Amino acid sequence: MSTFLHSVTQQIRRRWFYGLISLIFAIGVGVATPRPGQALSWVDLLFNGIQYVQLSNMSDRQEIELGGQINQQIVNNEFRLSRNSRVNNYVNDIGQRLAPASDRPNIPYHFQVVSDNQINAFATMGGYVYVTTGLIKEASNEAELAGVIGHEIGHIAGRHAVNQLRDATLAQGIAGALGVEQDVLVNLGVELALRLPASRGDEYNADERGFNNLGRAGYAQAGLVTFMQKLVGRGSTPTILSTHPAASDRVARLQTMLDSSASASANSGLDAAAYRTRINSL
Ligand SMILES: [Zn+2]
Repeated sequence: MSTFLHSVTQQIRRRWFYGLISLIFAIGVGVATPRPGQALSWVDLLFNGIQYVQLSNMSDRQEIELGGQINQQIVNNEFRLSRNSRVNNYVNDIGQRLAPASDRPNIPYHFQVVSDNQINAFATMGGYVYVTTGLIKEASNEAELAGVIGHEIGHIAGRHAVNQLRDATLAQGIAGALGVEQDVLVNLGVELALRLPASRGDEYNADERGFNNLGRAGYAQAGLVTFMQKLVGRGSTPTILSTHPAASDRVARLQTMLDSSASASANSGLDAAAYRTRINSL
């Protein structure tokens, strides 16, 4: 039994003692909908471990476990991961250089390359970051790629996905007295990571965190700015901008930050030729 399941079971047991009546009522009004073909009584629900998650006070450990399940679904059902170990290691090295200098250095991070020509990057809760081969090829240097990765770490550090999940479950009325069934959350988490646009505020926040993260890791902060400018300047809208709104506003804000940055001396990652060599096996 995982520690997470254990803690949830304890939570359910506590509720059992605190108020069986309210529990039966909660299940009775449809908080827990049994899957087709599975007739579950409330006794089954209590002792056979349908997992519920309380989004309002999720611990790091719970977030990491939920993120791991969302990641499983993404890599099993949504995308093909690149088998290019050279490029995978390179992207991981960049990510692992940024993570300790991020706003949330105390959780493990996983950086994965998705085999896809679309220009895209995304993240989910608990430390999972993805960049496509299309995006890696679009970047002109390591600082640009690091900028995108830093932005995605910024979403994780800001707990944006957890907050989005909480808001989505409240809006859809699927958060009940017990919390939300874990399977429901995993599916919603996949949708949020891949298809639903983040709010403008979350984007600004992730840009700011990513920008500062770049400087603290010694990377040229201009990388995030020039990459965003390049995306905005393209004729067709790259995939990454459909889930990341307000692109031209973001460029303007980043440019202002760059003009007054205290980390202006950070200049690592600007060698375009070295970058091409690192990724030439793509
Ligand atoms: Zn973003």
